[in-house]
Amino acid sequence: MNYFSLNHKAPTVNFEEATVNGIAPDKGLYFPESLIPLDKLMLETIEFMSNEQIAYEVIRQFVNKSIPKKELRKIIAETLNFDFPLVKLDERTYSLELFHGPTMAFKDVGARFMARCLGYFNRNKKDQKIRVLVATSGDTGGAVAHGFLGVEGVEVIILYPSGKVSEIQEKQLTTLGQNITALEVDGTFDDCQAMVKQAFLDEELSTLNLTSANSINVARWLPQMFYYFFAYKELKPLHKKLVFSVPSGNFGNICAGMLAKSLGLPIEFFVAATNLNDTVPQFLKTGTYSAKPSTATISNAMDVGDPSNFVRIQQLYSNDTEALKETFTSFSFSDDETKKAMKEIYTKTNYITDPHGAVGYLGWQKIKEEFPDALGIFLETAHPVKFLETVEETLSTKIAIPQQIKELVINNKQSIKIKNYDELKLFLKK
Ligand SMILES: *Cc1c(COP(=O)(O)O)cnc(C)c1O
Repeated sequence: MNYFSLNHKAPTVNFEEATVNGIAPDKGLYFPESLIPLDKLMLETIEFMSNEQIAYEVIRQFVNKSIPKKELRKIIAETLNFDFPLVKLDERTYSLELFHGPTMAFKDVGARFMARCLGYFNRNKKDQKIRVLVATSGDTGGAVAHGFLGVEGVEVIILYPSGKVSEIQEKQLTTLGQNITALEVDGTFDDCQAMVKQAFLDEELSTLNLTSANSINVARWLPQMFYYFFAYKELKPLHKKLVFSVPSGNFGNICAGMLAKSLGLPIEFFVAATNLNDTVPQFLKTGTYSAKPSTATISNAMDVGDPSNFVRIQQLYSNDTEALKETFTSFSFSDDETKKAMKEIYTKTNYITDPHGAVGYLGWQKIKEEFPDALGIFLETAHPVKFLETVEETLSTKIAIPQQIKELVINNKQSIKIKNYDELKLFLKK
């Protein structure tokens, strides 16, 4: 299978080229040229398969000849070496916990898969390392850094705004060592991002093999399909229709779920639950897509005013919005509604959600009457400890600190302070 650019002005490429390029030369997102439905027998016998077997069957056609079978199996095994528990909250509501990876955020899976693919593609070029350059406002950087930790042939340079990330987030970025370097920028997240963009455009750095680990990369996007298959595997014996509610920012995760459906996974309906950044809910209401600057909320990993993966969702439905609406809707929720939901879930079931998961829960609540025969699964995308202050304040309770975080806090921070682009360039050239 090959990938074409959604801007239609760039050559078709294979999985390796799509992963290495990240974005097509015409600035379009890569999209699979063809989709082969999965074997019906596989879906009928899925409960007898391991997560690794499922993942392999699901991703195989997308990777195709770019990675040999044995190597792909190894990459999958290393990517998925933690659990994806489904927690029942009431007769019809489940939380799919995607936060049991090393940085306790669901982006671990995509980052780990992508890192290992890049490592494989660069296997014979040990003298010519790939350098991944990332700007982070906090959460993504940790997952990317950890995902790439120890991957041979790849060096990761993370730029983060000094004093503007939480203590836990900073520790996740700065204590890894090995092939990960944290640059602490005297400025804002926007400054970090501007410097990264400038580096990619800088002719003088063109020999350095710079690449990005952006969420639009196919190798980060596609493995997110796995979650939906894992949930289906557990719920299949109940013979119920399934509705997924996905807390959405860049809409990559939900788009992967919809791709899973188009491969044959029987999912009845999708809800994209957003915070106040309501570009997509507005689009469904008015028919006009208008990107806007992002608004800060307590579910800050979803503060996105122009969700990059929405064009992929539209493509899946041949840009037919009416057809899309038959399986998809999107609602926006305020911070107050989110906090109220966190309290409600905690009071009723003793379950603690983070603000992102709570937005997902709200999406299901809003639609559940329309699907009286279905079970609702909301994706819990981050461990509550990652949003400690908000969670403890909202629920007036203390949450237990997981071992991963305890170990983190005692490690020493190591960062290199930089003030401007010239200093970044100097660092990269040495
Ligand atoms: C990135 C992120 C999201 C949003 O996922 P998208 O694929 O960008 O829609 C939701 N929750 C958390 C915790 C995240 O880190």
